[in-house]
Amino acid sequence: MIIVLKSGASDAEVEDVCHRITAMGYSPHTIRGALRTVIGAVGDDRGKDALRSLESLECVESVTPILKPYKLASREVRDEPTQIRVGDVTIGGRSLVVMAGPCSVESRPQLLEAAEKVKAAGARILRGGAFKPRTSPYAFQGLEDEGLKLLAEAKRETGLPIVTEVMEPDKVDLVAEHADILQVGARNVQNFSLLKRVGDAGKPVLLKRGMATTIQEWLLSAEYVLARGNPNVILCERGIRTFEASTRYTLDLNAVPVVKKLSHLPIFVDPSHGTGHWEFVEAMAMAGVAAGADGLIIEVHPRPEEALSDGPQSLKPERFAALMERVRRIARAMDRDL
Ligand code: PEP
Ligand code: MN
Repeated sequence: MIIVLKSGASDAEVEDVCHRITAMGYSPHTIRGALRTVIGAVGDDRGKDALRSLESLECVESVTPILKPYKLASREVRDEPTQIRVGDVTIGGRSLVVMAGPCSVESRPQLLEAAEKVKAAGARILRGGAFKPRTSPYAFQGLEDEGLKLLAEAKRETGLPIVTEVMEPDKVDLVAEHADILQVGARNVQNFSLLKRVGDAGKPVLLKRGMATTIQEWLLSAEYVLARGNPNVILCERGIRTFEASTRYTLDLNAVPVVKKLSHLPIFVDPSHGTGHWEFVEAMAMAGVAAGADGLIIEVHPRPEEALSDGPQSLKPERFAALMERVRRIARAMDRDL
C-alpha cells in the first residue's frame, strides 16, 4: 500500500505513521519527494485492510494499493528518477555515466593500462570481473581475491570507483570491501539468496537482466534488493536470447523506455554482451543512449586478441575513445551530457 502524507507533514508525524505500519506487520519505506512524503508499506497482502485505517490520521492524504507486483521499484511509489551517488559520480542524473574496463581482471599491467585508458577517454567507473561466471568449467574463472586487490590498486591509481561481479552470497562481504558497486550478473538475476545479501550489503547494485528474464521478473529481482532497505539499484539491459544467431544475444532496447515508464530506477545498456562483437558495440552504444539509457557499460581490453574472456566483443582503447566521442554527440542531442 502507498500512504501519501499531506504536504506539510512533520518528521514526527512521518515517524508515527512508520511505527503504526511496523506494528501492523509491514515494513515502511519512506520516500521523500520534492512536494510530499510517501511511505510504501510492504508486506503480506492479506493484512492490507488494516492499513486503510491510517487514512483517519490527520497527516495522511490517502492510502491506496500498489497495483504492480514490484512495489518499491514502481513509479506508483516514487515518480522522481532515483539518483545514486558513487564517489563523486551521480548515476541517474542529467549526465550519462560510462563504466568501462576489461571483462576479466587478468594481470596488474592489463588492468592498470585499461584503467588509465578508459579514464582518459571519459569513463567514470572501472569495470573488471574478479569472479567470473563461465559457461565452461575449463574456462578462466577469474583471479578471485587477487583480482579484487588489483581492482583496489587500480582505484587508488586512477580514482575511478569500481564495479565488479559477485556470484555467491558468502562472498558478498568480501567483494563489498573492495567494490563501489556490486554487479549481479545475468545468470544470477534470480538467485534470490544472493539478491537478499546484496540488499543487506549497503552498496549500490548493478543488476543485469537475465538472458531469459521478462522485464517484470527483472523488476521483481530489483524489488528483492529494495525490500532489504537498499534503494540503490541500477538496472542493466545486456541482451536476451532469441532465435537470431548473427549476434551473441539480442540487445532488447525496448526495455529502456519500458523500464523508464514502469520504474524510477536508472537503466544502463551493455552493448558488449548485447552484441558479442566489437564491431557492433559502437552502434548499439549510440542506440542505447538515443533510447534514453542513463549510462553504458562497455568492455575494453588493451589487447583483445589476448583476452582470457570476451575478447571478440572487447574494444581496443583507441576504438573506445572514438566511441565516446560519437556517444557524446548523441547525448547532446538527447539534452544530456557525458
Ligand atoms: C560481464 O559483465 O562480464 C558478464 C558476465 O555479464 P553478464 O552477466 O551480462 O553476462
Ligand atoms: Mn564479459
